[in-house]
Formats: sequence, C-alpha cells, structure tokens
Amino acid sequence: MAESFFRLYACCLLVKGTKRSMICDVQRGSFHLVPNGLYEILTEHKQRAISAIKATYQHQYDETIDEYFDFLVSNEFGFYCEEPDLELFPDISMDWEVPFEITNAIIDVNTQSQHDYTRILDQFENLGCRHFQLRVYVEKPLNYYVDLLDNLENRRIISVELLIKFGAETILENLKKLTDKYPRIHNLIVHSTSFNQINPDPSGMGNVVFVKQEISNANHCGLISTDYFSINLTTFLESQKHNTCLNRKISIDVEGNIKNCPSMTKSYGNIRDTTLREAIEKQGFKDVWYIHKDQIEVCKDCEFRHICTDCRAYIQDPNNIYSKPAKCSYNPYTATWGDDNPTNNPLHGK
Ligand code: SF4
Ligand code: SF4
Repeated sequence: MAESFFRLYACCLLVKGTKRSMICDVQRGSFHLVPNGLYEILTEHKQRAISAIKATYQHQYDETIDEYFDFLVSNEFGFYCEEPDLELFPDISMDWEVPFEITNAIIDVNTQSQHDYTRILDQFENLGCRHFQLRVYVEKPLNYYVDLLDNLENRRIISVELLIKFGAETILENLKKLTDKYPRIHNLIVHSTSFNQINPDPSGMGNVVFVKQEISNANHCGLISTDYFSINLTTFLESQKHNTCLNRKISIDVEGNIKNCPSMTKSYGNIRDTTLREAIEKQGFKDVWYIHKDQIEVCKDCEFRHICTDCRAYIQDPNNIYSKPAKCSYNPYTATWGDDNPTNNPLHGK
C-alpha cells in the first residue's frame, strides 16, 4: 500500500509563536490556534510520510498525530495524499509586489485645516494611491464631504474611509444616501455619538458605523487588538518584509504637514509648498516602510505577527524604534491579553 503524506492547502499558512502557533487561512479570512507540536510536524517533517513521522517520535504520539491530521482534514485545512502527488501542490509564493509608489493615505482635519483637496487628490493619482482615509475631528456639514466625494469623479481612487464627527446632519438616513450615491465609500464611521451601532452593507462597501468614542485628534490611533487583525494574503505577504501600517503610506496632518503618519512628529514638508513626491523622496521617509514584525521586540515571537497591524508611532520605548507597539496588551510568552484588550470594538471586521 502506498505511503500516506499530508499537505496543508496552499492558502493555509503557518506562523509559529513562542507559546503556540497559528494556521492562517488567507482564503477564508480566518485563523486557528494550534499547538507548537503540530507546527513542528507540519514544517520539520513536511517531507515525510505519516508513518515516518510517527517513527520519528518513537511511536509515543501516534494517537495524537492521527488526531492532529483528522482535525486538519475536518476543518478543511489540509488533505492526505500520496508521494507522487506532492509536487502537484507547491507552496504559495511569499513575494510581495505592488506597482504603486503609495498605496494608502491619511488626511486629518480639524478647525484650522485648510487642505486643498483637488491638489492633494491630483498628487494621489500621480503616486498611484488607491485608498485613503479622511479623519475629521470637528463637526462639518454634509456638503463638505459631498464636495470631496464629487472631486473623486474620474479619479482612480478605489475606496475611501470617512471618520466624521457626529452632528445635526449625520443621521443614518442621510449617511445611507451618501454611501449609496458614492459607492467608493468603504466605511463611514461617525464618532462622538451617544450610542454604538453598526449598519453593515451586504456588499461589504458603504458600512455605516456609529461609535460613542470621542475622537478629537490623532492620538486615538495605534490600538492593537484582535478586532484589527487583517487576515488576507496581501497583508500576510507584505508583513514578511514590510511594515503592516506604514508601508507605502503617506499622511497629511491637520496642519498640512506631510508625514508617515499623523501621530508621528517628523514632518517632511508642508503640502502648501512641498509635493507628496518630494516628501517621499526625502531621506528617511521610507525607512519605516521596511520595519517588519520579525524585527520587532516581542512581536517577533508572536503567532499573530503576520495578521497584526504594526504601530510605530506609539511604541513601548520611544528610544528604540524596534520596540513593541505601546497599545498592545498581548503577551505571546503567556498567550494572554491584558485587561485593557479592547475587544468587542464596534468597528470589528469593518
Ligand atoms: S503608525 Fe500607529 S498611529 Fe500611525 S497610522 Fe499606524 S497605527 Fe495609527
Ligand atoms: S505582540 Fe506584536 S504581533 Fe502580537 S498582537 Fe501585539 S502588536 Fe501584534
């Protein structure tokens, strides 16, 4: 009888942490935590037949190994096969490439902001930026957003996330009209409300979310929790060698300063007299793009590191750019979240 081998589906990617490992299913957008013993079987003994794997452990764990493989099959993480089939199932390439100089951007707005959106959007076009987030900390009339959204006409922007302050006009009916008229709105999040409410759209675009949280400046950003995990192939691949928040990102803060992120202090010029292209070409701008999780203290030992965002603005040791994000309470050495883990966030999955 032919020897039986085992293979994970190519979309099920393994990540080892200190205490436990994770199977990340980038096709279904889910993850499953597994013991490090199973990680070892699936990696170190990948090329061996199941009988040979059992022999490697002197048959002490035959039952456990069978249970592991049955678990993987029943959860559709992998399949049994025979040796000649192995070459039919190559691993997924871990290369990450994108043809755009900038992929995403943040624009912050408060009372003093005087952004020239036409000029900014022209430059986004020029750099290939397809997604941006507008974070507005003060109440604005709906027409403020309508003007901006009209300005997207005939541009190649794919999606916009609007974070806006609650006001007299921000009732659900008006906002749904806005998302219906402008299908490029991905999420429309209204902050500083008196209630939390999620109104998902079946299309995945045009979700309207109300949150009680008062957001008056960029300090709200940088929170790390399971709610903000991004489980998809792009993030997984990008995270191998790049920063999962700041890579190919450009930001314009409330005063028009061009930065990697509005929460960071270093400015590379002001949008009034510096182009975005000039800013990204300045020395140092791209440095943070290449700080990845495998280099970051604590994160490098965490099983979530390839689905987790990475904040470099709020870090545990401001003198060490490789220190852990300050707003993460997860301890991969004990596999526990601290009490301040902000789960059940109303923005979850949006
Ligand atoms: S670096 Fe931190 S604060 Fe800046 S955009 Fe990313 S998560 Fe937010
Ligand atoms: S330890 Fe690092 S990788 Fe793990 S959850 Fe926290 S920030 Fe993310």
